[in-house]
Amino acid sequence: MEILEEIFSKIKEYQRIIIHRHQRPDPDALGSQVGLAEAIRFTFPNKEVYQVGGPVEGLEFLAEMQEIPDDYYQTALVIVTDTANTPRVSDQRYHTGDFLIKIDHHPNDEPYGDIHWVKTSASSSSEMIADLINQTDLNMSENTARLLYAGIVGDTGRFLYPATTSHTLRIAAELLDYGIDAAKLNREIEQISFSVARLSGYLYQHLTVDENGAAYVYLTKEIMTEYGIIDADTSALVPLPGVIDEVLAWGVFVEQPEGYYRVRLRSKGPVINQLAKKHHGGGHPLASGANAHDKKEAQEIYQEIQALCRDFKQSNS
Ligand code: AMP
Repeated sequence: MEILEEIFSKIKEYQRIIIHRHQRPDPDALGSQVGLAEAIRFTFPNKEVYQVGGPVEGLEFLAEMQEIPDDYYQTALVIVTDTANTPRVSDQRYHTGDFLIKIDHHPNDEPYGDIHWVKTSASSSSEMIADLINQTDLNMSENTARLLYAGIVGDTGRFLYPATTSHTLRIAAELLDYGIDAAKLNREIEQISFSVARLSGYLYQHLTVDENGAAYVYLTKEIMTEYGIIDADTSALVPLPGVIDEVLAWGVFVEQPEGYYRVRLRSKGPVINQLAKKHHGGGHPLASGANAHDKKEAQEIYQEIQALCRDFKQSNS
């Protein structure tokens, strides 16, 4: 049986379905998770469908999570979207269900679940959920269209990044036909607080770029406090170095309250996810995340970015 049909038949079979996504959710995590939940509710109004995983950190305009007791899992189908590896699943009860499905577009480093559907060529997990709905007897509601559109916009940087294909644009066009207010949604996703805008100024002032385009900036605890920013606010800052001509790949090192650094890595060419994997992380070839235990490891990571940029420049000159 084709995988989409297999997933659809499991959705049909189970009365209770619980859907998870990754920690620190972004629009694609929420879009794919709740977009699927809403499509199942719309198609099968008598099923019990839950979306779980705790606070959504500034994305409340997209969706809110639900709280459910542990025993709900016993007879449930659990679906996890947009999450490459199990430690990153938000709410670790995900594995206590009756049957587990993974749906994701990151490299399949950990093929967990009874069924895993992983498509690294998809721009986003939301695009995959749109395919699942379009190619099975699931139905699209206006709210699902809104959530999936948000997920696609989020993960493609508004159709800017290389993962955007003609299929992505066709799906997005179809989603618009459901009457969603895309301009409003884009505004909600893109709008930043005045504090984040001021910290953008700091980021540009303090970004270091070497001769091969390797760039970094530290956002220390002190700076975050001074600007009134928390970790969740830094998403809007991460793409900013990319618009600078001289920058090829970069890391934004965000110091955490516990003292370690969350490293947010982006690239316009050199593949960075192997580097991320070496430092307790992972992700896409051009957009990854890692963790540095201390400043020393953070500096090592920057040196590795420098080496990648140097090799990339040499092999492309
Ligand atoms: P972020 O910088 O958090 O937006 O992450 C960029 C990409 O890297 C996303 O696709 C994440 O799924 C992935 N990623 C971030 N942190 C980690 C991590 N600790 N482990 C695995 N993948 C990660």
